[in-house]
Amino acid sequence: MGAFVHLSLLVCACLALPRAMAQRPAFSEQVLEGVVRGAQNQSYIQAPFHVPAGTHRVTITFAYTAREQHTALDLGLLDPTGLRCWSGGNKSMLTVGLSDATPSCLPGAIPPGTWNVLIGVPNIRKGVESHYTLHVFLSKTGEVAQQPAVLREPLRAGPGWYRGDLHMHTAHSDGECPSQTGTMVPCPLFFTVDAAARRGLDFIAITDHNATSQYDAMRELQPYFDKVLLIPGREITTFDGHVNFLGTTDFVDFRLGTSAVPDLNTLLGNADALGALTSINHPDAPSGEICMGCGWTPRHPVDMRLLTAVEAVNGGSEKYGLSGIPFWDKQLNDGCRLTGVGGSDNHRAMQPLDEIGSIGSPTTVVQAAELSTPAILDGIRKGHVFIDLAGTHDRMMDVTASAHNAQAHAGDALKAERGVSVHFTLRVTAAEGGTVRWIEDGKEMPSAGDAAVNSADQQFAMQWSSDGNRHWIRAEVTDGKGKLWLVDNPVYINWEIANRCGPQ
Ligand SMILES: [Zn+2]
Ligand SMILES: [Zn+2]
Repeated sequence: MGAFVHLSLLVCACLALPRAMAQRPAFSEQVLEGVVRGAQNQSYIQAPFHVPAGTHRVTITFAYTAREQHTALDLGLLDPTGLRCWSGGNKSMLTVGLSDATPSCLPGAIPPGTWNVLIGVPNIRKGVESHYTLHVFLSKTGEVAQQPAVLREPLRAGPGWYRGDLHMHTAHSDGECPSQTGTMVPCPLFFTVDAAARRGLDFIAITDHNATSQYDAMRELQPYFDKVLLIPGREITTFDGHVNFLGTTDFVDFRLGTSAVPDLNTLLGNADALGALTSINHPDAPSGEICMGCGWTPRHPVDMRLLTAVEAVNGGSEKYGLSGIPFWDKQLNDGCRLTGVGGSDNHRAMQPLDEIGSIGSPTTVVQAAELSTPAILDGIRKGHVFIDLAGTHDRMMDVTASAHNAQAHAGDALKAERGVSVHFTLRVTAAEGGTVRWIEDGKEMPSAGDAAVNSADQQFAMQWSSDGNRHWIRAEVTDGKGKLWLVDNPVYINWEIANRCGPQ
């Protein structure tokens, strides 16, 4: 108390992503400034601010002057009911959300009303003035892309191909590992992230079944694991199928069949409204008592436009020979432009990393503008993705299709009128001993011929003549005996991307 508090309200012009986020103002920012004087030594100061109803997250950053004169100010946060955070002097940023909070803070409901930043003054010398600046960000959504910059800073700047895994389970659902005495127990989330780090992955999405409790553990681990981006995810697990929701921490009601969620279209529409990227998992898995609701078996017709991706390769299905590729191909043939991704579906973080289904097996490789959650999800939305089934560190494939003066890469659309010849090139790296094949509308193109990969960095060419109709063409690399090593996303010829899942 007693400090001069100046409050100014800034309305942020938050970042714009291609999704229809512009209608939704994402967060507000306030700046609280004040002065602490020598007479306030060994006291507590409160800086109040108002939190409106409907706020999903409160984030504060804190800076102050006169440190060189041994001024020390501690940081805490009070909600209208009591102490929410106390960090002492070791943190300059605190965030409190519905599911997760900075260590030092408690996650949970965000009660509306007057909150206070709590500033402890363990030391300020007589005659010294310390000026502090607090930024208070109030988020109206749990979507990562819509958070203030301090919460979505990239782990690595700059464009690149980033390697990761989009599907795994921890103690927060049915992930398990041996305890100290060898009993199988719910496996602490740390071991999952540690396995991803040991594998050298750039990102993982932790997708426990329907839960949101894993985000708090991720909040604690991310500063330590500063080379592995932790993407908030969930495997929405219903009686009609399993769908990954990526990129938001907001709760989604998964209780399919209740009046709140009568069908999958309602569920997927709710996810879309929250900014989640949705991806069907293991669509060809069997449903029944062995795996309840695992296959994609909707009781009502699903509007496939509500989905962005499909798990073409699942670690478990690879093991049991149940590929998601036929399902994916059928969607593409129906005009549904779904990005093909991979996911280990790992449930045992401690399993050896050379086993099928270990974390990173398969690896999903995404071309993204930077290593951040919004950029990785944007790369998946654009289809700039290939799947490395063996989860290597270095295998690459990159398709370029050219017609007239236009170029397209995997995931892109290209216009080619009847009679136009499209020139495809494929660059394959670190896949010696493999064989290249081309798939057109779900069928291998015999005319393209098999081509042996016999050097570490090799280019392949393929000429294709357009009939003017809608087609999709993708490249694959096998081990030469048919076992898949690399699966690319298609180049879309004559597709109206805006009209996905529609007639030509
Ligand atoms: Zn599943
Ligand atoms: Zn799963």
